Amino acid sequence: MTFNKSLVWFRRDLRDYDHAALAAALEQSEQVFCAFVFDREILEALPSTRDRRVHFIRESLVELNDALARRGGGLMIRTGRAREEIPRLARELGVEAVFANRDYEPAAKERDGEVVRRLAAEGIAFSLSKDQAIFDGDEVLTLANSPYTVFTPYKNAWLKRFVQIGCRPWDSNGSLAPLPAGSGVPRLEEIGFEASDLEEIGIRPGMSGARAGWQDFQQRLDRYAEARDYPAVKGVSYLSVHLRFGTLSIRELADHAWRVAEAGSAGAATWLSELIWRDFYFMILDRFPHVVTGPFKGQYEGLIWDDWPEGFNAWCEGRTGYPLVDAAMRQLNRSGYMHNRLRMVAASFLIKDLGIDWRLGEAYFARLLNDFDLAANNGGWQWASSTGCDGQPWFRIFNPVTQSEKFDPQGRFIRRYVPELASVPDKFVHAPWRMGEKEQAASGVTIGRDYPAPIVDHETARQRTLARYGRVR
Ligand code: FAD
Repeated sequence: MTFNKSLVWFRRDLRDYDHAALAAALEQSEQVFCAFVFDREILEALPSTRDRRVHFIRESLVELNDALARRGGGLMIRTGRAREEIPRLARELGVEAVFANRDYEPAAKERDGEVVRRLAAEGIAFSLSKDQAIFDGDEVLTLANSPYTVFTPYKNAWLKRFVQIGCRPWDSNGSLAPLPAGSGVPRLEEIGFEASDLEEIGIRPGMSGARAGWQDFQQRLDRYAEARDYPAVKGVSYLSVHLRFGTLSIRELADHAWRVAEAGSAGAATWLSELIWRDFYFMILDRFPHVVTGPFKGQYEGLIWDDWPEGFNAWCEGRTGYPLVDAAMRQLNRSGYMHNRLRMVAASFLIKDLGIDWRLGEAYFARLLNDFDLAANNGGWQWASSTGCDGQPWFRIFNPVTQSEKFDPQGRFIRRYVPELASVPDKFVHAPWRMGEKEQAASGVTIGRDYPAPIVDHETARQRTLARYGRVR
């Protein structure tokens, strides 16, 4: 054993099995303690004290604490600035090393850098493991030894490496050091938050919620390729919140998807691609941190956006007059989730129909998404705005009406979230302003009174966008 005592710092990896840092600590130490910090630097930046993510974390911690207790330990939970709390706790416990899993966000890297320095000043080691990605760092590089910036060749190289070395789960079983007295998971109120509607919207936190969701999705995996683009059907996994907080292991998911894909399932192969997108955007954020504040491609710095607060508010509130966009935004506002097809449609609409800076949309999603992840969210917005490494071509502009006709043909999703259009016939549900007076009267919807008239004309907006991008490309 290298260390007498060590500490595992849990962050976005709230499970006790197949956990890289816990496995490393157990392998190298006689005694292992576990901790989590409610980081004030993160919590204080949240706009509301009723935040589903904080609620999700708290409930997941209760479950994690119970699981660790069954192994003789438990979680020591602190509230404060993690960069101070972890070195303090390490000192109090007298540990020789702190173990955690790597995080690719610039702010997290800066914080970890400070923790390393503070621990080193006391002679305490800090070890970071790869856990949330399948491959990171220099593991998937081009032949010229540089990071990939285009997805398809990255994916091919990723798969080649995956086949070569596979991904085995970490053995993070083993007994833990007993908790000091007075430990326990604080109530939400004790950290200045309140309960949200997680239960009402059907989100089950913790490893048990993750397991139930994963088992449910395994039955549907084969159908993913056909079903994933239709927001009205249960075609996707809805596992993103669990992947965000690590209540599921990415290795288990990727390994399963790969095996099922190898056995011939197109659904599994397509889903595995989505997991590879996740790794790709972690890598982009890690290697090109300038994406946090601006476009991946420098020439798009010169784009001049419209300053249009009313347009932005209409988009946020789901009253643009384009039903699929409005349904998408209302789904986000009500549940903290938005289907992937709709994230693309809604983002494209803000940028290329309303001419508003994608960073405003990115920040709005970041505020509301339960699965908000800087790497994927930024990647998605950079893709939609064509400013990203492998974005939608700048001249490709989603038509919100044809997207609606194609992916919500009977308007089932629209009617679920925009009930004022419930009795509008299928023919008009994608573009209700096309109803004449007679049809409006028959369906009981007067455009401009019961449902907004379109905020922009798509064709005019398209031309303006082509001109906007044409000036800088
Ligand atoms: P599934 O379709 O079942 O996919 C499985 C998993 O693969 C997801 O849970 C996710 O972890 C990963 N994944 C899927 N698509 C992508 C992608 N394009 N990029 C990276 N990872 C992906 N995803 C987030 O997790 N957090 C975000 O903040 C986020 N913001 C987005 C913003 C925009 C504008 C766009 C276009 C996409 C964004 N995505 C984000 C990606 C994607 O929309 C969600 O991961 C997906 O909708 C989550 O639902 P699911 O778990 O059912 O996905």
